[in-house]
Amino acid sequence: MSAVDQTFDHENGLTVSFEFFPPKSEKMEERLWETVQRLEPIDPAFVSVTYGAGGSTRERTHDTVKRIAQETNLRPAGHLTCVSATKEEVLAVAEDYWQAGVKHIVALRGDPPEGMGARFEPHPGGFRNSVELVAGLRAHRPELGKCFEVSVSCYPELHPESQGWDAEISYLKAKQDAGADRAITQFFFEPEIYFAFLERARAGGVTIPIVPGIMLQPNFKGLTKIVGLCGATLPAWLHDLYEGLDEDAETRELITANVAAELCQKLADQGVREFHFYTLNRAGLALSTCHLLGAKPKTARAA
Ligand code: FAD
Repeated sequence: MSAVDQTFDHENGLTVSFEFFPPKSEKMEERLWETVQRLEPIDPAFVSVTYGAGGSTRERTHDTVKRIAQETNLRPAGHLTCVSATKEEVLAVAEDYWQAGVKHIVALRGDPPEGMGARFEPHPGGFRNSVELVAGLRAHRPELGKCFEVSVSCYPELHPESQGWDAEISYLKAKQDAGADRAITQFFFEPEIYFAFLERARAGGVTIPIVPGIMLQPNFKGLTKIVGLCGATLPAWLHDLYEGLDEDAETRELITANVAAELCQKLADQGVREFHFYTLNRAGLALSTCHLLGAKPKTARAA
């Protein structure tokens, strides 16, 4: 049976989406396509592919997004940033996606080429921030009315460059007003963090869906190194769970799937129905988390 025949019907009404990164080598390319094929029967709402700073990285993103559009039944979204490009160059990428049947963009300001934590300097002829990029995408191909579906980022624990909660929420509202359809959160580990953010956002007039971004990273040491730079924190109980497992990748994977599924379950218990998984191109982790949540193909449930 092909993936198309497997009508998705989550008994608990959950919707999921998956984020991938573009492969850097042949081996990684194989892993990505294995992941794509194994996750396709879950029938995600969309799958997205991240965007880097260098030319070759960007080419890989474009190629991956277009290949997903051409060779699978998935609905791909291309991440797009304002970094190191003119408005025309950014919109040319968007147009190329449009021509390839890619109708969804995750619109970001992005990090500078030097990496997270470095100061962002807009390109002289470029979009200065994600609000301008969203507006640019909205205005693209005016003859179509609404051209792309546009998702944006948001930060339940504040972005490192944040000027405080009022500014953070006003800024998210500005992305919505510019035309964003959905916000995807930075990863977090405590449901209270999400619900407090949701409350602030709704009080500030943000009405678009705010989809929790769920991290599936079993390399806890690696995660520890980047959290502060990306606007997230790691709770002490998480350190305890991974303690002593530096050399035991298998057990770390099991813990990661369980932690993610438990977080999603707690969110679902309070009404959240949509989840975006940062898969890091690991099929097994994303699949086991979805199965733990009851988000699996109908055929698998019937078996
Ligand atoms: P923005 O949301 O535009 O700005 C970041 C923060 O700066 C805001 O949250 C706010 O605190 C502050 N800020 C900026 N302007 C204002 C203003 N005018 N008023 C008030 N506050 C302001 N990076 C990549 O390089 N490639 C990717 O593919 C990628 N995908 C991502 C996907 C998601 C879902 C998330 C959450 C992040 C992703 N990132 C990606 C990381 C992102 O690029 C970095 O976090 C970057 O530092 C900010 O980009 P942004 O679009 O979130 O920025």
